[in-house]
Amino acid sequence: MTERLVTSLTNDTVKGIRALHMRKEREVTGQFLAEGLKFIGEALDQGRAPRLLMVGMEARPHPLLDRAKAATLEAGGEIVTVTHPILEKISRRENPQTVLGVFDQAYTRLDQLDPASASCWIALEQVRDPGNLGTIIRTADAAGCGGVILIGDCVDPFSVEAVRATMGSVFAVAIVRCTVEAFLAWRTAWPGSVVGTRLDATVSYREAAYAGPTLILMGNEQAGLTDGLAAACDVNVKIPMRGRADSLNLAIATGIMAYAVTDAA
Ligand code: SAM
Repeated sequence: MTERLVTSLTNDTVKGIRALHMRKEREVTGQFLAEGLKFIGEALDQGRAPRLLMVGMEARPHPLLDRAKAATLEAGGEIVTVTHPILEKISRRENPQTVLGVFDQAYTRLDQLDPASASCWIALEQVRDPGNLGTIIRTADAAGCGGVILIGDCVDPFSVEAVRATMGSVFAVAIVRCTVEAFLAWRTAWPGSVVGTRLDATVSYREAAYAGPTLILMGNEQAGLTDGLAAACDVNVKIPMRGRADSLNLAIATGIMAYAVTDAA
């Protein structure tokens, strides 16, 4: 059980947390950074305590902060009190959150998913934008989806930018990463509909039958859903484009699909 004060920008703990902005460091440590009391509260509600809780000297007393401190110490983590310049340096923002948490990353394996536990699941092929991925994880949570499956070479869901965009849902939604081959093998046992989304599809997303748990496949921001994955779907659907835009933003399209599926369930 430890609590200490750190005031030096060159302190090793501060350097270690700053390094979590880098994917390589996140992969080596298996940790990630979540900023703000709201995020910490979401984590605690999911039974996840921070490994390290960093609290600014100016942080105001709050019952949730007391709860976070108690949970951190109970789980064997440490609490570090720091100055405002340290929080600014770590967050790379002028107005940083006054409470930060370092958490263990949590991935779920494909074979741990229970398709019947939710009416909708989202699979993303080579998503590249961390803001899109964080928004999709938040939307999946909001719509009641079971999880988000990252197929192939995707952006890191535990990057600082992606985590910020989740607004805390990173703790609530199962996140899976897998290769295309592993996904295709697992998909053969899927008990419900598998629905791809393509701009060249001829079926409207409103006409498709979403029978049983539905797995929706979304494509990469530039290239769209590849032919190989589209061919593995029971049906491919299109959201009508009525103006001059040729496509929707990936996160927006995912939101429309997720609600179409969960509303139909
Ligand atoms: N140029 C890409 C293409 O040809 O597919 C555009 C990709 S779009 C920005 C990213 C993803 O969002 C698509 O792969 C698809 O999954 C989904 N999407 C966007 N607009 C869509 C629409 N109107 N209908 C169905 N899916 C759409």
